[in-house]
Amino acid sequence: AISEGEILGSLYSRGIKPDGVQKLSKDMVKMICKDYDVEVIDAVAVRVEEMAKKKEIFDEDDLDKLEERPPVLTIMGHVDHGKTSLLDYIRKTKVAASEAGGITQGIGAYKVLVPSDGKSQTCVFLDTPGHEAFGAMRARGARVTDIAVVVVAADDGIQPQTTEAIAHAKAAGVPIVIAINKIDKDGANPDRVMQELSSAGLMPEEWGGDTPMVKISALKGENVDDLLETIMLVAELQELKANPQRDAKGTVIEAGLDKAKGPVATFIVQNGTLKQGDIVVCGEAFGKVRALFDDKGKRVEEAGPSIPVQVIGLNNVPSAGDEFEVVGSLDFAREKAESRAQALRLQHLSEKAGDGKVTLSSLA
Ligand code: GDP
Ligand code: MG
Repeated sequence: AISEGEILGSLYSRGIKPDGVQKLSKDMVKMICKDYDVEVIDAVAVRVEEMAKKKEIFDEDDLDKLEERPPVLTIMGHVDHGKTSLLDYIRKTKVAASEAGGITQGIGAYKVLVPSDGKSQTCVFLDTPGHEAFGAMRARGARVTDIAVVVVAADDGIQPQTTEAIAHAKAAGVPIVIAINKIDKDGANPDRVMQELSSAGLMPEEWGGDTPMVKISALKGENVDDLLETIMLVAELQELKANPQRDAKGTVIEAGLDKAKGPVATFIVQNGTLKQGDIVVCGEAFGKVRALFDDKGKRVEEAGPSIPVQVIGLNNVPSAGDEFEVVGSLDFAREKAESRAQALRLQHLSEKAGDGKVTLSSLA
């Protein structure tokens, strides 16, 4: 061990007089550590490496401006196991009463308030057909979902799409919460489902493992509060953060052509804050954000991290899974979108040519 005095001495000998206010430069710290043959760990580098592992969307510049953000959830599972029923129940009961009437036009995601620890916390549910959204986005390397909620019917057990959902979530490194559904039914056997899941490598917390499993009835609403609380606990452990004070980037989760509005796209903002008037590039599309609408169809001025928002003003319909980002000018946006479109055209051509090479005849 080295005494404080010794280090102070070595600083003084270099002409530095730390007075409790002055900060040491990184170089200074490295020099002193070298004197004592101590290895320095670059905390920022370590954090950036961690971020890369977790596929965080923020970068080094954001580190000192990070704030908590709500978790983004996807409900997955085998057909008829109760995904829609669960979403419907949550939507009916967990969206503030004053707003409930407003949810008519789905934008592919919505915010839900979960009472937790005496306060109300927001989480965001993706409402897109789980598998497609997840699959397409993952194929593009996008990671929008923070937690996968896998619904398994207690009277049916693990089925092919259950296995697929679990595989997707694992491959993306997304934590899984299991909802064992339909416990109200005759023939429901939650223990058997837990047994099957253990065999598939997901050991229930109840049995000493680390996968939370909650037995629910989506139809009757039984234990859905428990499920939401469990989800929020898992979210807390993830320490989800973003920097709201920068230009937005994120991912398109849904897009289409509206007769009146033109191309519309739902974005999930993953970092920064998207504002009306921003210029965005998104896949092969670009444009100036003319208007933003929240999940209740209400016009909003801006949307921060994790918040889904419908955007109009794009020149074209992007694809689910496309990334978007705010850029400085329309010219730059056009250029970027065009070069992206060209890259994709070349890729298609080379795939068609079959040998990975683009020939003149295939270009003609
Ligand atoms: P999805 O295909 O996963 O979206 O499944 P749905 O939500 O459409 O549900 C399929 C069927 O199961 C519907 O007839 C639901 O009413 C029924 N169902 C869903 N959850 C429950 C439940 O908790 N209990 C019972 N008894 N039926 C349920
Ligand atoms: Mg459904």
